[in-house]
Amino acid sequence: MATDYDAPRRNEADELGEDSLEELKARRAEAQSSSVDVDETDFNESLELPGADLSNEELTVRVLPKQEDEFTCSRCFLVQHRSRLAATRGGENYCRDCAA
Ligand SMILES: [Zn+2]
Repeated sequence: MATDYDAPRRNEADELGEDSLEELKARRAEAQSSSVDVDETDFNESLELPGADLSNEELTVRVLPKQEDEFTCSRCFLVQHRSRLAATRGGENYCRDCAA
């Protein structure tokens, strides 16, 4: 008789667990959908801040003023060190790769 009790108990526990999971999922979906509606007004305001941060990151990573010992290749338009200057024709500089 002990096994008879055991089997239905397990099923009940499983069903309860699934039910509560489904409930949680449903509640989460509700919370998400409602938070999306609420966020839309806040979204425009908060959008400017991350945008500003991104441009700052680009500035620090990409934009460096050309140094005194550097030149811009007239063919590949890369800023390179003077040691890579291979030719100057008509006031235009060419790096080793492009002058070859
Ligand atoms: Zn070049």
